[in-house]
Amino acid sequence: MVRILLRFSEKLVEQPITAQIILEHKVPINIITAHVNSKGGEVLAEIPDAALEKMVKAFRQKGVKITLPKLIEVDSEKCFSCGACVALCPVDAITFDEDFSVNFNKEKCLGSTCSACVDACPARAVKSVKQNNSELTGNMH
Ligand code: SF4
Ligand code: SF4
Repeated sequence: MVRILLRFSEKLVEQPITAQIILEHKVPINIITAHVNSKGGEVLAEIPDAALEKMVKAFRQKGVKITLPKLIEVDSEKCFSCGACVALCPVDAITFDEDFSVNFNKEKCLGSTCSACVDACPARAVKSVKQNNSELTGNMH
């Protein structure tokens, strides 16, 4: 599965685009988080690897912006193992190893739709980093 970030404009957010695309292409999409209001929406979704290209194209044809979500990076030099990030992570994507170094699980992280650990770190040891979107570039138009 590949996690992608779908951005819906104010105009698009009123339309059942995701449901239409799922029905049309018969590809199951796993919605991880959704922040939607009348001004627009941001949805973190998981797409099966084999259907990625087809689904990216389908969403872009409808005007939905797609990127890979930003991930987080922990600077072990700055981290002093206070545990604030570990305590706040809603999906246990940050844990302590036995030696109290911070362990980050990319597969679980909600990326830029969350960023709780970035804001919580008193040492500014956690930062949000862009992923290389080249995996999606072939589908841009
Ligand atoms: S961004 Fe959110 S989900 Fe990801 S590691 Fe930080 S707190 Fe956890
Ligand atoms: S909040 Fe910052 S200093 Fe504290 S454990 Fe997490 S990365 Fe380390």
